Amino acid sequence: MAETALITGAGQGIGEAIALRLAKDGFNIAVNDLREAAAVAGKCRALGVKAECFPADVSDYGACEGMVKEVKERFGSIDVLVNNAGITRDGLAVRMSEADYDLVIRVNQKSVFNMMKLAGAVMMRQKGGRIISVSSVAGVHGNAGQLNYSASKAAIIGMTMTMAKELGSRGVTVNAVAPGFIQTPMTDALTEEQKAAILSQIAMKRYGQVEEIAGVVSFLAGSDSSYVTGQTIEISGGLSM
Ligand code: NAD
Repeated sequence: MAETALITGAGQGIGEAIALRLAKDGFNIAVNDLREAAAVAGKCRALGVKAECFPADVSDYGACEGMVKEVKERFGSIDVLVNNAGITRDGLAVRMSEADYDLVIRVNQKSVFNMMKLAGAVMMRQKGGRIISVSSVAGVHGNAGQLNYSASKAAIIGMTMTMAKELGSRGVTVNAVAPGFIQTPMTDALTEEQKAAILSQIAMKRYGQVEEIAGVVSFLAGSDSSYVTGQTIEISGGLSM
């Protein structure tokens, strides 16, 4: 039976690219996003695997509980979890509202607790699995204007190491990727001035493409990374050195 990958926030951007890449790798795909992402599920099915949508707000524990139960029932197992859903509410710290801080922590960080706990329990019982979370270079090095976001993404790195220690003996690996500046709807929203400033710091002098994140996630989901756990791999074209 084919293995199943559940990808959060897979309706567009990096999450969509990860869903398509893991479908190409032969995984059945559970496509999560806030809304039904029927087009992405359709593209995965066109690659010859089973794919279904599981709309849910991953910052809501109860919604995650329902989704994990449903995916397990419909697909039989959860072999790979990719925690990709994330948002930004940027602003200088001294001007950041409490609401924007709390929202980003809830969507980017608490969602990872919800899903690591719930899918981790399934993987423990299966005695195997892969958890891959999408952090950010902002979580490793900090980024002006992103106190809330960098806090949430740094937390993911700590959670990844902790879960790797808790689940390692059960055959579950837990890793993270830390993308730099990747061309998606999230980064299209930046001003030209912000984009130019970032480009000047990238060793490879170009932005990343979503497929370049998906390729590393594919490695972490596959058998070639069987002895890699607790790690955060930066994918930034040399943005931060
Ligand atoms: P995006 O905004 O294009 O896509 C994010 C997706 O997540 C959207 O489809 C959105 O609907 C979904 N989502 C948001 N909140 C959700 C929730 N509560 N429950 C379920 N789904 C939810 O963003 P992207 O650029 O593709 O980013 C994907 C991930 O990569 C995020 O975690 C982001 O922080 C991270 N990241 C992106 C970049 C970049 O340069 N684009 C860099 C570093 C890290």
